[in-house]
Amino acid sequence: MIARLEGVTKAYPGGVIALDDVWLEIEEGELLAIVGPSGSGKSTMLHVLGTLDRPTSGRVHLDGQDVAALPDRALSELRATRMGFVFQQFHLTTGASALDNVADGLLYAGVPLGQRRARALEALDQVGLGHRVRHRPHELSGGERQRVAIARAAVRRPVLLLADEPTGNLDSAAGAGVLALLRELNASGTTIVVITHDLEIAHALPRQVRVRDGRVLP
Ligand code: ADP
Repeated sequence: MIARLEGVTKAYPGGVIALDDVWLEIEEGELLAIVGPSGSGKSTMLHVLGTLDRPTSGRVHLDGQDVAALPDRALSELRATRMGFVFQQFHLTTGASALDNVADGLLYAGVPLGQRRARALEALDQVGLGHRVRHRPHELSGGERQRVAIARAAVRRPVLLLADEPTGNLDSAAGAGVLALLRELNASGTTIVVITHDLEIAHALPRQVRVRDGRVLP
């Protein structure tokens, strides 16, 4: 078991219940889609799974640990060393090369610079961008930027990779390429959760968790 949500509820100030008694188990090696319309609670679920946000009530278990029992420092370390994040907007550093963007994925994991660069090169090769390592984000296509972002997440060799609408900003060909890449990473052992509002993408993945109004549908 990589992750488990037990009766997780998230209420935002103002009274919005973004997650309402969510139970979810994610096994090692899974590739699953969390699918639902806009506003159904998908991003909130990803933030809670990724320890970017704490639930209002309920428990989150990650990689064998009860997240609530971890002090902030241990939580940051868990995030930096065990989790990978990919976002719709890529979130790359504008002025930095693809290589430095990916190497920065290891910054908070305490890996020395030389090793960061060597591992970044390897990760960029793995996503098919070995020939673009000196390019900066504005010199890359959207699909290539997302590949860099995936390499930055994968370079940590995370136990859990969380992707929030990773194809949302891409045309269908680039989106298909990114999905194929996520499948490859999954085949090599990474557990991956993909958030999407796109049923076609969800159905292309081995497991779908449907959410509506903050609840997981049966
Ligand atoms: P999705 O990712 O499915 O679009 P979200 O998890 O972003 O859904 O949002 C779920 C609900 O929580 C929505 O009603 C949204 O408006 C609300 N919400 C999300 N983030 C916040 C926030 N920081 N403060 C208040 N309400 C929020």
